[in-house]
Amino acid sequence: MQVSNRLKLVASFVSGEGTVADIGTDHGYIPIYLVKHHIANGVIAMDVVDGPLERARKHIKQHKLEDRITVRKSNGLQKLEKGEAHTVVIAGMGGGLVIKILQERMDIAKTVKEFVLSPQSEIPQVRRFLQENGFSIEKEQMIKEDGKYYVVMRVVLGKGNYYTNLDFEFGKYLIENKDKTFIECLEKEEEKKRLVIEKLKTLSSENSKKRIEEISKQLEWIQQVKQYINEE
Ligand code: SAM
Repeated sequence: MQVSNRLKLVASFVSGEGTVADIGTDHGYIPIYLVKHHIANGVIAMDVVDGPLERARKHIKQHKLEDRITVRKSNGLQKLEKGEAHTVVIAGMGGGLVIKILQERMDIAKTVKEFVLSPQSEIPQVRRFLQENGFSIEKEQMIKEDGKYYVVMRVVLGKGNYYTNLDFEFGKYLIENKDKTFIECLEKEEEKKRLVIEKLKTLSSENSKKRIEEISKQLEWIQQVKQYINEE
């Protein structure tokens, strides 16, 4: 089984203190990796679609882990019992879906001791949602794979300390810890945005002027983050 570095990073964020539920398990690689590496004793591999569930079952059988990994059809957290999982992993989905999954069963989410989240889009919105709904982001790390940047976060119940636009937009933890991959991603973003502005300058529509203003604001934020990182 070829487990990507992204999935290995996700697995490394699991504290290993109890049962893990993997929401949107697809191939079942996270549950298999967690059990094989003695990070978790038991995992519930959950997915809403039959195809992935079959795939997960097949892989779990190949590894003879049927007694340690339960496969369960579930839309988000719907079929997870309260208190059944110490850790919930939600990786490889868009941020909007991650928010929806948590929002739909907040009663269950509030019984989970630890979340390992790796939203692949709308990351600032996820951070904001967590802060506003009684969750605290304890740790974040960025990883680059196949030219794409991914964020992984460890989230627990409690009052978070993300407050400013920069905290939400870029990830307070990533900024304060000067995450190397994050700094590289920031440089790339800055470069991309400067190029877009150059292109937009060649147009003279009202729309392009508005976009230049928006992107310039984002560039200002990037400058602020870079300044903070370089000063500390
Ligand atoms: N977690 C794995 C990873 O990070 O590589 C697989 C991610 S895969 C791209 C997304 C999986 O989420 C798919 O198997 C899909 O069927 C499942 N999924 C989408 N919406 C879901 C939902 N509401 N509840 C459970 N699973 C869902």
